[in-house]
Formats: sequence, C-alpha cells, structure tokens
Amino acid sequence: MAMAKVFFSDLKAGRCSSVVEARLLRYWEARNVKRGGELMWMDLLMVNVNSTVMQVTISAGRLPQFLEQLHAGTMFSVSGFDVSRCAQNFRLTDSSLMIRFNESTSFQELTEPVSPLPEEAFRFRNHSELIGLANTNTQLPDIIGEILSVKSTVCDPPEEKNRVMVTLKLDSDETVTLSFFDSQAVAFHIQLEAMRVNPKVMVVTSINPKIVGGRLFLNATSGTHVYFDKKTGAGAALFYRLAARDTGLPSAAPLLNSYAKVENMTIADLNSFIVSAASQEIDFLCTGRVVRIDTDKGWCYVACSKCSKKLQRTESAFTCGVCNNPQAVGALRYRVEMAISDDTAEGTFVWFDGVLTKLHSIRASEAAQMLAEDGVNPEDARLPPFIADMEGKTYTFQVRVTAFNFTEHHKTFTITRIAEDHGRLPVDDVVNNGDDDDDDGDDASPNIEPSSAAGDQGGTSKAQKKTGAGASKVMCQGQSLNQVALYLPRPVFTHGQLYVAMSRVTTPNGLRILDETSDMNGEDGVTNIVCKEIFKDV
Ligand SMILES: [Zn+2]
Repeated sequence: MAMAKVFFSDLKAGRCSSVVEARLLRYWEARNVKRGGELMWMDLLMVNVNSTVMQVTISAGRLPQFLEQLHAGTMFSVSGFDVSRCAQNFRLTDSSLMIRFNESTSFQELTEPVSPLPEEAFRFRNHSELIGLANTNTQLPDIIGEILSVKSTVCDPPEEKNRVMVTLKLDSDETVTLSFFDSQAVAFHIQLEAMRVNPKVMVVTSINPKIVGGRLFLNATSGTHVYFDKKTGAGAALFYRLAARDTGLPSAAPLLNSYAKVENMTIADLNSFIVSAASQEIDFLCTGRVVRIDTDKGWCYVACSKCSKKLQRTESAFTCGVCNNPQAVGALRYRVEMAISDDTAEGTFVWFDGVLTKLHSIRASEAAQMLAEDGVNPEDARLPPFIADMEGKTYTFQVRVTAFNFTEHHKTFTITRIAEDHGRLPVDDVVNNGDDDDDDGDDASPNIEPSSAAGDQGGTSKAQKKTGAGASKVMCQGQSLNQVALYLPRPVFTHGQLYVAMSRVTTPNGLRILDETSDMNGEDGVTNIVCKEIFKDV
C-alpha cells in the first residue's frame, strides 16, 4: 500500500506516517557550549514543492543512522516522523511546526520527485524589517547584500577569540555590520583568503539582528551559512546587477583587512560587542570626544597604598577592608568617569590613576594640593581645571574589555592607555576623514595626524615652542627644521615632548635652549626628574 504524499503545509502536530518529498537546503550541529561543546542534535532545513521550508531535527543518538546521507541539495522522500511545535524563540522558518525524526523514520534519497523541488529558499528581510525584528529574539532571518569591507581579528595561526565584521550594503542602500565570532570567524576568514578575487555579494542565513546605540547589527548564529556571488540564484541576480554597474576592473584593494592585535572599534560596535560576543578579555582602540565629565562621582579617591582599593575614612584613620587594616596608609588616586562619543554612539569610560597621571604629568596628590581648601577632603574638592578642560577634546585610547563588561553590572569601560603620549589635540585639529570606522581602510595605527593648523604658521614660530601651549608642542612631530629654539621657563616638559622638540632640528648648531629652570637649583642643563610612581600602573 502506497503511503499518502502530503505537503509540509498539511502537517499537524503529532506522529505522521505520510510521505513528504523535500530537498535538504542545509544542516548544522547544535552543540551545548555549557557542556564542553557536546553534540545535542542536528538541525536541517528542508524545502518542499510549494516552497514551504521546514525545520527538521535529528537527535544526537539517531544521527549516526542518517549522517552519511546528509548532503546539501539532495532530495529525499521522508516518512514516519513526529511533528511538534517550534519554540517561540529564534525561528528558522515561517512555519510554527517542526519535524523530529523518530525510531521509525524513513529517509530515502530521491532522484525523480513527483514535481520539481525548489533549489533554494531564503527568508530575506530588508533593513526596516530587520530593525523590527531586532532585539526580539523571535526570528533568525536571511539577508542578501553587497560586500563593502571586511575586518578581521584572525591571525595566523588563529588565537582562541576571533571576530570578523563585514559591512554589507542592503538593497535599500542601507549599510549594516555583520559579525562572525570565534570558529565561524576563522572559517570565514580562511574561506575569503582562499578566494582568487574579492566576492561582491553575500547571502547570509539565520542571522540574529540587534540594535545597539541606535544602529543595526547582525550577528551570525550556529545556523548561519554564507553563500558568495553566484552560489545561489538570488546572489547571482544581485551579482550581475552589480557587475553591470561597475567598470569590470578588479578592485584594487584586498577586501580582507586583518588586525593582529588591537582593533579599531566604534563606540557603537563596542557597546554591541559586550552584548553579542562571548565573555572575554580583549583590547580595542577607540577615538571619541569627551561630551560630559561625571562630576558627581568625584575625580579621585583615597586608595590603600598596598592594594590600591578605596579606603574607608574614619574620624582619625583610614581602613582597608581588603587588607583588613584599620590603620592603612592612604594615597590619592585619580578615578574620573566621562561620557565619550563618536559619530556612532556614546559610552561611559573610566580614566584611572596611571592613565591620567601620564596624560597630564600631574599626580592626583599634586592636583589636590593645588586645589586645597580648609575643611574639604581632597576627594570632595572641585575638579582640577586640567581635567575639566578634557571636556570637548577628542582622544584616541585603548579600552580593555574584561569579563566584568559582559555582566549585568556593566556600566563603564576602562581606558587603559592613551594612544600616544600627549597625542591630544583640540577637536578642531583632529583630522577627520568623515568615514565611519566600519568601512574605511585605515590600519590600527594610533598615530594622530599633524595638525593642518601648523601649516598656517611661519617656519620660525613653529620652532619657538612655549611651554603651556599644549597643542603646539606636538605639531612639530614629523617635521625637520633647520633651527629650533626652546624656551623653558618652567619645568613642565616631559621626556617625550622634549625629545620631539629637540630631535626635529637637523644640525646641533641650529639648537638653542633657554632654560630658566636651571637657576632654580643652581645647576646648568636640564634636570631629569622621574616620578617613579607614574610607572606603577603602566
Ligand atoms: Zn589594602
């Protein structure tokens, strides 16, 4: 007796003994990351004659029976299986049902289906639909787009934590960032590297859309498959449309930009990273403008000189809870929270003692002395002016993301390093190419461009450096000058600045130094003062 042939759309929850003819589109393993990657089941997507896509799962226990038959594109006659409701989250198909293979499932390869079966089936969503789905965790849709750029942290050999970010232009001309993580990032990187020419088009399946900081991000899932260019009919159509549009000449720049160590990151990407990536410790380089200094939180605290944790003030002494010491020795340390933004988003960043001491060459205790008022504890004193002045300025800095950033207690990012000693410039002087960080081709170099404002000045005035004019000191970097005069009225130059100023001159005869500080201690020459405390946290 021949079993009745049905469509996926005919199925009802329960045991089914009818036959469905369908094509296997793709399949992937579902592994339990919490249990050392143990295989739980295999997910399959199958399409039948009327283009209905159905999710099929085969439990790990039954998998050996079917594994050798699993080849994407193969057609099957399936009968004897269970039909159940899909979970409400992360839907892979438009159907609310799914198929589970059971002990009596028959899964026979098919060469001549009753009716031709579709070669492919995607659930493409456009930009506004993706925004509607973002953060809902309800659907894992597919997308198609033009590849604009690829950034990768994958090195050779790959390290444990990896990320690849692809900037895609969707049909509506909107661009989105698609992220792959870890082993998927490595696989994507290797696949792209092996291609002779840059692909133009990507079809990407089962992605999870997220909105962070007002921007749309698409994250790969375990079910994500990538099809380049003409691998799919849908991709080929877009490929030929793009090919007809451009000159046909190969792109000059390689698509894949790898970042070996510290990757540039927009603040929006940084915010996204901590909600979408696996918990890890990793450094990124950000550039942003200080939009607000959180003065409520103060600018310094009394730290235990042993463990650097905050001390509790009692009437006559300091107590360290960590060292369990009721008579702890206190040292003043900086801690300043600032809202910093780039053109993508805003984030809250914390500047700690080492970084701020290095940036301003003034220790927290010195700053407290400058601001000393009777009856006011240093940590309650007003903001030092050089810190208040940071508002409105743009900095390139390194951020360390730690496991803490991935917890719900996360509120701030820690700045661990300023990209270049005294590389700070007023915001107007920072060269801005107007590009979003996602789609430019810059490398990760933290160098700050010399200011264009320097070009307006005469050659002599460039060389006559007055201390205290913060921005002008770094302007001579990268320049060679015949004559340099240094005027040193106060001992505020640091090594880096003095070196930069002195090393620009091309001949010793061209260097004159007027050092008024030598009168202070009755010695000639420049006294080298090293505050060893500065290097404690460096
Ligand atoms: Zn302590």
